[in-house]
Amino acid sequence: MTLSRYDYIIVGSGAGGGVLAFHLSRAGKRVLVLEAGQRWQAKDYPDNELDASARLMWSGGVEPSHDASLMLMRGRVLGGGTVINQCLLDRFDSVALDDWAERSSIDSFNVTALGRHYDAVEADLSLQSIPESDWNGNARIYADGFDQLGYRRAPLRRGQSRCDVSAGNDCMRCLGGCPRSSKQSMAATFLPRAEQHGLEIVTGCHVHGVVHGSAGVTVYGRVGQEQVQFFGAQCVLAAGTLGSSRILMNSGLTHALPALGKGFFCHPQFVTFARYAEPVDAHRGSFQALKSDDPRFRAAGFKLENVFMGPVAAAYLLPGGAQMHQRLMRGYRHLACIEVAVRDVTPGRLSLGRNGQLNIRKSLGAPERRRAREGLQVIRDIYRVTGAKEVMQAPTGIGLHLMGGCAQGVQRDTSVVNPEFAVHGMPRLHVVDGSLFPSAPGINPSLTIMALAHRAAEALLGCTLPSAGIARGQSIAIAEASA
Ligand SMILES: Cc1cc2nc3c(=O)[nH]c(=O)nc-3n(C[C@H](O)[C@H](O)[C@H](O)COP(=O)(O)OP(=O)(O)OC[C@H]3O[C@@H](n4cnc5c(N)ncnc54)[C@H](O)[C@@H]3O)c2cc1C
Repeated sequence: MTLSRYDYIIVGSGAGGGVLAFHLSRAGKRVLVLEAGQRWQAKDYPDNELDASARLMWSGGVEPSHDASLMLMRGRVLGGGTVINQCLLDRFDSVALDDWAERSSIDSFNVTALGRHYDAVEADLSLQSIPESDWNGNARIYADGFDQLGYRRAPLRRGQSRCDVSAGNDCMRCLGGCPRSSKQSMAATFLPRAEQHGLEIVTGCHVHGVVHGSAGVTVYGRVGQEQVQFFGAQCVLAAGTLGSSRILMNSGLTHALPALGKGFFCHPQFVTFARYAEPVDAHRGSFQALKSDDPRFRAAGFKLENVFMGPVAAAYLLPGGAQMHQRLMRGYRHLACIEVAVRDVTPGRLSLGRNGQLNIRKSLGAPERRRAREGLQVIRDIYRVTGAKEVMQAPTGIGLHLMGGCAQGVQRDTSVVNPEFAVHGMPRLHVVDGSLFPSAPGINPSLTIMALAHRAAEALLGCTLPSAGIARGQSIAIAEASA
């Protein structure tokens, strides 16, 4: 069999893979993206939570940690996590980056050096803050509580171009794929732009392993029932924390890379609902509008999310059985919700089980429990001063930001990927996604994954890359671009 030869094969099309695919394609390279999920036209994304979970996410929606204390979520769709996420895009601060520099011995993990890459990515996205006129009842409760208790809050910055909430559009559905291509997912931004520069994409391709050779990298996988292989002069794993770690382990590299699968983090999140006498209608309009911006929270290692959920997720997370659960669900319109997200410091561990499945060992340590308790107390205070009738704590934690497992660093015993994004000892095999994170930042991760992808593109191409200068607000429906 003759294999097509690509300059670059990128496995995964999320925050890391999407940005990288664009810059390599724009530089004239022959690039192939292999993605396990499917390609969707924006207007066809599932219109209900159950279908969205089943069709756009791994394992039908959630993957439990080994002790089931945390339910992890990740996208399996062209565009990866950026299609099913909330697209809140924040830069990391010196608290996060100084820690990275110390752990990795990479000096360029600092606010100034990374600033150029943030600038480039942001210039190619439409970023908007949610105006007060778009707040729903949930945001008003959040703001009122913060103000009464003297905590600092700030508007959220979101990747979106035309949500038109004041025109009556509800944003909750876009967590299952934005039907208006307003949310700045990779599927609406960098991937279709890359296709205009010749990017090739194979969807429904599950990559199992890679073999690094002197002339390039062979990538093995499956499309449906068919075994496939592809050959690239260079290969970049951008399959996310669980995906890239698993591919490297499956490729028999566990012994060669002693740090592989170590240092797994996920920002554990704990949901607290409250019931109010009057309707809150938290499901209406702008889904999230505000964030906690209080230095005391940052120092204590948590933040509070102004968030809500659809009826299926609410039913899953509300406590109680039978009559109590039914009563709470009947009062869905009266529910408010705030989440505490913890900056975790107790590393988890990823490994391969005997039958090839990924074991995810991630427990809550004493620091995470303490941070969660402190945040939950503030949430209860907010509900108390804003007149909630009843407060309900979700029985399980969730992990949305999956990070680490292939940490970037200088030392081979504590990291997997070198400062130039190559796997230690394998100059043609690279990793560019959230698995590079040396620790949990306590901040939304995807903008930094995109910035690292911009930095990686420069490392691979050996030149400085300006932003594409794409006009703000421009989104392209991926199917339109590729038709
Ligand atoms: C509900 C939710 C809300 C979130 N909200 C935010 C937010 O507001 N802000 C923020 O910054 N972050 C948010 N996140 C997290 C953010 O989406 C992720 O951190 C980010 O997408 C990770 O980027 P990545 O490139 O590492 O991997 P991903 O975006 O996960 O992309 C990896 C891709 O690789 C594919 N893949 C995996 N394994 C294989 C394989 N073997 N073969 C082929 N393809 C494979 C996957 O299908 C996926 O498409 C949220 C996440 C969730 C689940």
